[in-house]
Amino acid sequence: MSLPTWKCDVCGKKFTVGEWVCDGQSNHTVTRKEYLLNDAPTDPGHAPNGGMDSLRDGKLRICNIPPDKTIVVNGETQRVAGGNVEFIRGRFSTTDPEQQYFLDKKGGYCTEEQWEAAWLSNSQQLELERMRLNSMRQRLEAERNELLTQTKQRVGA
Ligand SMILES: [Zn+2]
Repeated sequence: MSLPTWKCDVCGKKFTVGEWVCDGQSNHTVTRKEYLLNDAPTDPGHAPNGGMDSLRDGKLRICNIPPDKTIVVNGETQRVAGGNVEFIRGRFSTTDPEQQYFLDKKGGYCTEEQWEAAWLSNSQQLELERMRLNSMRQRLEAERNELLTQTKQRVGA
């Protein structure tokens, strides 16, 4: 199994697992990646049939992203404490390749639809559906108008 590689947006270097550090201080920067979780609080903080539409600001901290590690500095082994990331309302995004690598390893994320079903109230989901239908209708109308124009041009020719 080959190790994943990334290219840093800041310094342009290619690097692989473990070679996280960019300029001696911070990590390399890569394309932002978003992670979604659908474990919304069982009490979502809103009435079941609309009314109060605000979901509780669910926060979930995932520890050991990245995990503790040992590094060798001047021949001495040092222990570096790991970190953690905080999902807010089931979403977390990062440009840090080290966080991405360990989040990818952990797995268990959901799709955008699963996230919506878990986090949005019924009326928010209906509103979203209505917006999608609206844009679909507009697209269909635009297509129909274009067809009409094409037909007219053909008839006129
Ligand atoms: Zn870099």
